[in-house]
Amino acid sequence: MPLQMITRGAKSGICNICGNDGPLTEDHTPPKGCVRPTAMELQHVTHRLDAEKAIKTKAHDGVKYRSLCARCNNALLGGRYDPVLIDFTKRVSDFLASDLVLPSTMPVPTKPALLMRSVWGHLAAVGVDRYLKGPRTEEWRDFFLDETLPVPVNVNFHYWIYPYRRQALVRDAVSLDIGNGGKATYWLMKFYPLAFAVWMPENNWQLDYRDLVTYPTSSPDDVVDVMVDLAPVSHELTLEVPTTTQAIMFGRDSIVANSRAPRGQMLKV
Ligand SMILES: [Zn+2]
Repeated sequence: MPLQMITRGAKSGICNICGNDGPLTEDHTPPKGCVRPTAMELQHVTHRLDAEKAIKTKAHDGVKYRSLCARCNNALLGGRYDPVLIDFTKRVSDFLASDLVLPSTMPVPTKPALLMRSVWGHLAAVGVDRYLKGPRTEEWRDFFLDETLPVPVNVNFHYWIYPYRRQALVRDAVSLDIGNGGKATYWLMKFYPLAFAVWMPENNWQLDYRDLVTYPTSSPDDVVDVMVDLAPVSHELTLEVPTTTQAIMFGRDSIVANSRAPRGQMLKV
């Protein structure tokens, strides 16, 4: 049976973040201001690896889901959290575009508490009618709605440089590693120039990427220098294709979006 990408959904329903029932609005990923949206081809991640079977859905101005209420989408994401994500990605873009020879690691001032909520909120918007997120549904909801709450325990917000045109949004991936016995669930968001992974290990499996959780602040508006590694550059498909000791399973709401530019093209680093 062919997979179908459902990105619009009903005009009214349960908000993917707060769970309230009411009118729904479209969330745009990445948010306007991060990158200029272009015509996109959406493909399910697993189908991407088998081009002949790929099912392509055209979206004309980026990836949008009608899955959030106006408060979560406009007041909180758009009004409060996204400006931090937009500023952070702009600063990193400026590094990548710079003609200066820069150190391999650069400090980027940002508000980690708000940045994490922006990343999480856009990933939570992925999928239609996807409020339920397992036993931690309410804990995540409260984290998003109350910016003073800490990140749920045993969660990492990894980030790394992603100098590629292709975008990816993945909810509910599970990875098993027979090399270290690790098992983790994760969400993944990639768009130029950064990739983010909300990493939720079931045991002690930790990744080597930098982690926004390691920058605690006493107030959500505290600005701290977050370290960004400009080198080495990770593979475009990191956490999307398994290493030789891993297996990865994707949930139903996992998509990649290619601009009509050539695939795999690395932008200036
Ligand atoms: Zn909501």
